[in-house]
Amino acid sequence: MLIHDLIGIGFGPSNLALAIALDELQQGGPPLETLFIERQRSFTWHRDMLLDGTHMQVSFLKDLATLRNPASRFTFINYLHEKQRLQDFINLKTFFPSRREFNDYFAWAAAQFEDRCAYGEEVIEVLPEQQGGKVTLLRVRSRDSAGAVRERLTRNLALGIGGTPSIPACFAPLRDDSRVFHSSGYLRGIAAHAQARHIAVLGAGQSAAEIFMDLHGRPHGPRVDLILRAQALKPSDDSPFVNEIFNPDFVDHVYGRTEDERDALLREFRHTNYACPDLDLIQRIFQVFYDQKINGAARHRLLRRHEVEDVRAGADGIELALRDLDTGHGYSERYDAVVLATGYARAQHRTMLAPLAPYLPGFAADRHYRLHSVPEFQPMIFLQGACETTHGLSDTLLSVTAVRTGEIGQVLAAACRQAQQPDLAERRALA
Ligand SMILES: Cc1cc2nc3c(=O)[nH]c(=O)nc-3n(C[C@H](O)[C@H](O)[C@H](O)COP(=O)(O)OP(=O)(O)OC[C@H]3O[C@@H](n4cnc5c(N)ncnc54)[C@H](O)[C@@H]3O)c2cc1C
Repeated sequence: MLIHDLIGIGFGPSNLALAIALDELQQGGPPLETLFIERQRSFTWHRDMLLDGTHMQVSFLKDLATLRNPASRFTFINYLHEKQRLQDFINLKTFFPSRREFNDYFAWAAAQFEDRCAYGEEVIEVLPEQQGGKVTLLRVRSRDSAGAVRERLTRNLALGIGGTPSIPACFAPLRDDSRVFHSSGYLRGIAAHAQARHIAVLGAGQSAAEIFMDLHGRPHGPRVDLILRAQALKPSDDSPFVNEIFNPDFVDHVYGRTEDERDALLREFRHTNYACPDLDLIQRIFQVFYDQKINGAARHRLLRRHEVEDVRAGADGIELALRDLDTGHGYSERYDAVVLATGYARAQHRTMLAPLAPYLPGFAADRHYRLHSVPEFQPMIFLQGACETTHGLSDTLLSVTAVRTGEIGQVLAAACRQAQQPDLAERRALA
């Protein structure tokens, strides 16, 4: 069986940027045997949230390569050049392209790595391979869409698997009810209930706000309740001094702090990333509610300071038991569909790597995103997007992706060069 130098799990922007970084770092040297395994059948970036009118929340200069290597052929600017839209883009006078365009840019870059990506396979677990009392390799098990399980061996691993939907506990029993769906599956979910007339959207972040506006614009005119615990929709702070926390070199600052100091930083700047829609989007929503006052027809409601206490599914709808946190008043509302724009958890790597847990104390990562391991564990495992508590708020975003993958790539390329030297033939041995 072929032994890979690196298997990347997931082929979203993080591991795509890693493929690019490795490609550029290795130029001239012997090629690394690299493979990325992606559960989607083709590249798409948050497919079910590619809504009309949505745009990037970071500058296009925070693309897959620019901050690491502005001369890379994988920059957004080169993409525009190749698509013959560079001049037109300049005339848009924006740093924030549409999400559809950025998805197209990512897909354009991903297409250049087709030979290194196995699409349509979901990695289910990673197992240790022992030799002489040491773990020398990892066995990566994946399942394809037909249910067939494949196994591959690798010396190193890079996880870029994004987040998993955070579902409030009271909705867990309704996991199989298609009328309740998370924002990560919004377009599919709403297509299955295209005629839903009364819809609840839970959340106060960018996704909740975008979904509210999308539903508002739907021709059949559904009534929407936007339900949030907070008093108000609050905008993200992207003013320049605050934005410095998303600079790649701020990672050193965060990583160098004590745990308490890092927690304090995360708390202080949480509203740059969580539960904070763009100001212009908030203004558009406010306008919708203002216009309702003029028209005298209260189609939508902003249920602020509200909590969902219980959920019941019936043939005639989903009933939410709501509590007004200001008055203490409890009441029920029935909806045709409920959208949970309730964010993401980022602990999936612990489940996927559970068989390796005894070798990876606390799943803690070093400054270069490599999981610490016991001495008898040789493979390097890198985490992309799961190190927010140690590396800062930029970790789940595109802000540091280009630079982070350069850092990981350097470590990997150096280690693989060393391993390649003694005996190339040995690499094709193990079964
Ligand atoms: C709607 C939306 C808009 C966003 N907009 C911005 C923005 O404008 N700017 C910004 O900086 N950030 C934004 N983000 C944050 C987002 O996390 C990053 O943009 C980016 O997607 C992170 O890339 P990633 O590759 O780490 O994770 P993801 O993009 O989530 O990619 C992970 C990939 O791994 C695959 N995968 C997961 N599990 C497995 C498995 N077991 N086996 C195989 N494959 C697997 C998934 O299918 C997916 O393709 C947005 C997030 C969302 C949800």
